Amino acid sequence: MRVLTTDAQSPIADHQLGLTHHEPRVTLSDLIPFIDWSPFFHTWELRGRYPAILNHERHGEEARKLFADAQKLLDEIASHKLLQARGVYGFFPANRVGDDVELYSDESRSQVLAAFHFLRQQIEKPDDQPNYCLADFIAPKTDRASRITHRDYLGAFAVSSGFGLDELVDKFKADHDDYNAIMAEALADRLAEAFAEYLHKRVREEWGYGRNENLSTDQLIDEQYRGIRPAAGYPACPDHTEKGLLWQLLDSEKNAGIKLTESFAMWPGSSVSGLYFAHPESKYFAVGKLGRDQVLDYHLRKGMTLQEVEKWLGPYLNYEPANAPTPSSEACACGRSR
Ligand code: SAM
Repeated sequence: MRVLTTDAQSPIADHQLGLTHHEPRVTLSDLIPFIDWSPFFHTWELRGRYPAILNHERHGEEARKLFADAQKLLDEIASHKLLQARGVYGFFPANRVGDDVELYSDESRSQVLAAFHFLRQQIEKPDDQPNYCLADFIAPKTDRASRITHRDYLGAFAVSSGFGLDELVDKFKADHDDYNAIMAEALADRLAEAFAEYLHKRVREEWGYGRNENLSTDQLIDEQYRGIRPAAGYPACPDHTEKGLLWQLLDSEKNAGIKLTESFAMWPGSSVSGLYFAHPESKYFAVGKLGRDQVLDYHLRKGMTLQEVEKWLGPYLNYEPANAPTPSSEACACGRSR
């Protein structure tokens, strides 16, 4: 197994560290230019990319009607502020410790605020290809040879455009207008993803490395910029429970009104959260199937029982777990107590 090691850092000014609340400085009009419209058509089971889909031989007419109706409702939503966008984000001094990333309260890097736990690809690869883990994109604290302390950073965010959505959908449903109820949900989802894209651009500018990127909207939607914003539950970091740590770090419920349910789903539904990595070589990947050796190490790193971890990572396990999941149990299937 090969590990990708990096020690590149993106310096960030001290005054920018910590949390920034996004309310009320973002309006829906700020977000609309960042909407990726292709997934909107997928909601209506029209496959294809925007804007080409508008001229599709068979589906063009239906796509044009949907798009016109969407613009009408979006105008109404934005002008009457029927949905509100709220979010919180922050930059933190960070260093890799094994496959974890520790976040610190300040530049002295002495007090750990939070630690995110990542998983590493275990698939056999040729020697020249690394087995990726998101922690590889953050520098270790010290370089053993030079004894230099690496000043690296991680960003974190949670955004939502779903405030007001339940009321809007209920109103359409009361009028027996299921079409606009679905349309409102689809638009709120688009606005949440647009908020994540908008905020990522701001973050790259504030961080510094994105100030001169000059990308078109299409290039932004294709994520052709430096850095990534992986989201817990997606293939590079499939463990949804890491959102619990993100929520503690950002205090997302207090700072942005976004709640986390017991099953680690976000409320309101049209919400997006994740971590910002700035490393020039950072990229999305899939961790794939996990061996018991890694899951044993992971449950110790997280301080969760093996059964709990196996429950959350079920589809990714490359083995049959020994015991049925009993998340409340104090005893752990690995033989240790919590
Ligand atoms: N333009 C799309 C939209 O509006 O629907 C963006 C959303 S799409 C789901 C892409 C996002 O999913 C990424 O920005 C990242 O947050 C997440 N993502 C995609 N692939 C991922 C991976 N392999 N691991 C972690 N997160 C991933």
